[in-house]
Amino acid sequence: MLSPKVQNLFDEPGCDKNQAKDEKARKKGCSKPLTPGAAAGGCAFDGAKIVLQPITDVAHLVHAPLACEGNSWDNRGAASSGPMLWRTSFTTDLTELDVVMGQGERKLYKAIREIVEEHAPPAVFVYETCVTALIGDDLDAVCRHATDKFGVPVIPVHAAGFVGSKNLGNKLAGEALLDHVIGTHEPDDVGPYDINILGEFNLAGEFWMVKPLLDELGIRIRACIPGDARYLDVASAHTARATMMVCSTALINLARKMEERWGIPFFEGSFYGVADTSDALRQIAKLLVARGADAELIDRTETLIAREEAIAWARLEAFRPRLEGKRVLLNTGGVKSWSIASALMEIGIEIVGTSTKKSTDEDKARIKQLLEDEHKMFEGMAPRDLYALLERHDADIMLSGGRTQFIALKARMPWLDINQERHHPYAGYDGMVELVRQIDIAIHNPVFVEVNEPSPFDADGTVIGEKVIGLSRRSAVAAEPPLPVPPPPGGRGLVGMGSSQSFGRADVGGFSGFGAGSPTAGAPSSSPPSRGRDREGGVGLSADGELATHTHKKFAASGAGDADDC
Ligand code: SF4
Repeated sequence: MLSPKVQNLFDEPGCDKNQAKDEKARKKGCSKPLTPGAAAGGCAFDGAKIVLQPITDVAHLVHAPLACEGNSWDNRGAASSGPMLWRTSFTTDLTELDVVMGQGERKLYKAIREIVEEHAPPAVFVYETCVTALIGDDLDAVCRHATDKFGVPVIPVHAAGFVGSKNLGNKLAGEALLDHVIGTHEPDDVGPYDINILGEFNLAGEFWMVKPLLDELGIRIRACIPGDARYLDVASAHTARATMMVCSTALINLARKMEERWGIPFFEGSFYGVADTSDALRQIAKLLVARGADAELIDRTETLIAREEAIAWARLEAFRPRLEGKRVLLNTGGVKSWSIASALMEIGIEIVGTSTKKSTDEDKARIKQLLEDEHKMFEGMAPRDLYALLERHDADIMLSGGRTQFIALKARMPWLDINQERHHPYAGYDGMVELVRQIDIAIHNPVFVEVNEPSPFDADGTVIGEKVIGLSRRSAVAAEPPLPVPPPPGGRGLVGMGSSQSFGRADVGGFSGFGAGSPTAGAPSSSPPSRGRDREGGVGLSADGELATHTHKKFAASGAGDADDC
């Protein structure tokens, strides 16, 4: 049943890579064979869960033995501004006995009932996995029956692990939303300033660095999928006037099909880097005006961009004395490979290399133009080459994802996580300043000088001379200018602009986001209303700024003999 859907995804017209292949190669799909010894990526189930789990008020029930949920649980730092149900892990915890006795469907139904009775969620998402797909549990029938019985949408997500890669699972999650969720709710407050953001995960709460800018322009996020989303927002996404797609590799199929089905135009953009954030805001304004918003939105957007860029550059400039001439190796890919690079270069940081692993041809052209040296671009680097480069001290820091962190640490080099497991928000203008601040902190961490000093002992353990470890470093640190003080929320202190609240409203034509006078006044919003609230301990984060802890729930009891079984 899943096969035609998977084939259809491999034939995605919105994916340049797939379209460049011949028909035979396209049929084979996108999964590459795993490299022995390398860390394997996640399975399709993992990919589907990554995309859907940040829908925060929904219960996510994994129909599988316990290990599947354990394997994929909580490996991303998405944040919620309200509901915390998404952080409770539900699994049917199938055992061999359940499989042998054919108890899978019964146990699933019972688990759904228990979730609905105890938590009253607006919907339950049920994930198929390898074992439950292989034993042939009829997920659709159980979900249909449970929906009728309990009056709550129960959504089957068909993305068993063996179907393919994590990336394919992302797209299958998009298909589940298209088939069962989007278009099922008609809001009564549709307006010409409504947009969708697709592929934004709100990692470390970073979308909250961007949302206040949109609020200020009077642009409402109808649905941000999936970061900090609510079920009803996603169900109403078909009423938006335009879509921005942040991560094309994850949800291109969803963006394209929403355009076909509901006529919502989309563009691909990024909130990483100063120039990119400005471009994204411009494109959003342009699309909205083309679809009925007032043309003065474009002028207000330009005014806001000019103001925000001036603030961001002034704040970034404060790091120049400490970071000028430092060399960064960017091992990430996609749009980040050039959008972050351009902002770093503006303050005098040298980019010694950038990965083009997930970059499109357009991305590569921009990198080439930016770095003026194509030898600094690499598709992927073997761990041994990466280690050699870092060990030679050809870079002062590596920015990458968690998988390569140990290569940097083994080479005794600073490293900063800029991929999905990161703990700091890097989106928008304020996010770029935060990224530079984190680079500064990592580069100037005294531990790296100490571990790079020659050992004061010889091979036999005899002390050589009177060397004191780290002494040279301590004097060097004392000579450097101090780390710029982190700005107050809104970050206006460094350029003497006063608080973020009093700043700029008049500059952009008197709009005040969702307050009085805004084109979307009084409209509900799923995200925090003010910049940085959650970073300061708002709902969803504990008082010390840490993410709230999660809970696990498994349904170990067999459902045999239950009167309400299907
Ligand atoms: S590959 Fe299959 S068994 Fe393994 S985690 Fe993924 S769904 Fe579960």
